[in-house]
Amino acid sequence: MKRVLIFSAPSGSGKTTIVQQLLAENQSLQFSVSATTRPKRPHEVHGKDYYFLSLEEFQAKLETGDFIETEEVYKGTLYGTLKSEIERIHQQGNIVVFDVDVVGGVNLKKYFGEAALAIFVRVPSLEMLEKRLRKRGTESEESLQKRLAKAEQEWTYESLFDVSVINDKLEETVKEVKKILLEGQ
Ligand code: ADP
Ligand code: 5GP
Repeated sequence: MKRVLIFSAPSGSGKTTIVQQLLAENQSLQFSVSATTRPKRPHEVHGKDYYFLSLEEFQAKLETGDFIETEEVYKGTLYGTLKSEIERIHQQGNIVVFDVDVVGGVNLKKYFGEAALAIFVRVPSLEMLEKRLRKRGTESEESLQKRLAKAEQEWTYESLFDVSVINDKLEETVKEVKKILLEGQ
């Protein structure tokens, strides 16, 4: 298996669900916890899902060169991959797993090159994406519309990834992803 696994997709495609399932089943996979300036959702835990930072805290880390990549994924909301996360995970001899937006995914693939496998997660249709985002119930109507508006443009990044999977039936998707990881393609 590659030492770096990158999962990217438009919001609501199911990448976090897939990643969480893989992490629960394989102790050598470790999640790279990103920093973000967005508010914490009720079920999320600081230091586990994200490092939730103020804009000032995020900017301070940017200035001290703490990030491999940062992205204003949605207007006014910053996300970034911390160098310290990769060091921590690789020092333990584990495989680092990223759940990032498509631009971040492409940048991380460029950074890690052959050491990384970049996986694009796709939903069968925009209607299904909307349904899943609504069912997740985490977004305001404004935030939901922002995510949907961005999705079609984000799909154009698919060909820049090593491999893409269609997340229709979750169980089958996870099975397919595991097969891809073992084959290391
Ligand atoms: P992302 O991390 O890409 O934003 P999530 O993993 O949060 O997406 O998934 C979005 C919503 O869709 C969640 O409520 C999740 O439970 C649901 N979901 C994920 N995969 C499937 C699937 N294959 N079929 C139906 N619902 C799914
Ligand atoms: P959410 O707010 O739904 O958790 O995440 C929104 C988007 O930001 C998702 O596509 C998620 O994968 C992406 N994201 C999370 N962390 C990072 C990061 O460190 N860098 C980049 N570029 N995107 C990230």
